[in-house]
Amino acid sequence: MKLIRYGNPGQEKPGLLLADGRLIDVTAFTPDYTEAFFAGDALDGLRQWAATEGHRAPVIDPGTRLGPPLARPSKLICIGLNFRDHAAETGAPVPAEPVVFFKATSAIVGPNDPLILPRTSEKTDWEVELAVVIGRKANYVSREEALSHVAGYVLHNDYSERAFQLERGGQWVKGKSCDTFAPLGPFLATQDEISDVHALPMWLTVNGEIRQQSNTSNLIFDVPAIVSYLSQFMSLLPGDVISTGTPAGVGLGFKPPVFLKAGDVVELGIDGLGSSRQQVMASV
Ligand code: ZN
Repeated sequence: MKLIRYGNPGQEKPGLLLADGRLIDVTAFTPDYTEAFFAGDALDGLRQWAATEGHRAPVIDPGTRLGPPLARPSKLICIGLNFRDHAAETGAPVPAEPVVFFKATSAIVGPNDPLILPRTSEKTDWEVELAVVIGRKANYVSREEALSHVAGYVLHNDYSERAFQLERGGQWVKGKSCDTFAPLGPFLATQDEISDVHALPMWLTVNGEIRQQSNTSNLIFDVPAIVSYLSQFMSLLPGDVISTGTPAGVGLGFKPPVFLKAGDVVELGIDGLGSSRQQVMASV
């Protein structure tokens, strides 16, 4: 299944993107895709409901705004420097253990919402990433058990203000958490939609020029390794989002570096997870 949410910001309703391209509303089955929804193993119920009742569900206008495909989670966790070529372009060594940081969940927006440059930002940068959505609570899970705790996958652009991240002291979180810095979607693909999550081409363009082009096969720490690793330090709750890191081609890696300015258009995609598009806007 491909889960979507639609409607105005903060008032999104749950839906599904069907194989024929139609969007349907599923509020007759669930009020939203929340922690409680994922914790209740409702994905199987939703699949059955869609098969039997889906034809009666309201069809959504394809021009409707898409929101992030899940309600605000308890955590948005990111893995840093998880591609060798990206570590090299930033001048950082390849990490011996996953580099872990947080992104404020208030940064989450819909896949095609504008990117608002933060006030005083001069170094806002892009990062196409595969993100994992937790299905069942995970505590101290093994690598072998890890995927049974995953609901599915979603496309993420881990926007980053490099000066806030690297030049202002402290942790990376300041450069990662600005409003609109985490577009998620267009949809959450359940695991059965993706035959091999470690063989997905990924790309990103700025104003139509290709900037990032790689494949999830190049992840240093793969999805089971990341889920198992994080679960040794914290409970991963249903609906939590884990972004797995970006390949080379970020603006910071250019010589000289290239950063976003108002009017730029960023487009990105991962095979099987759709594509998204953000227009860059000046700070408000
Ligand atoms: Zn990232």
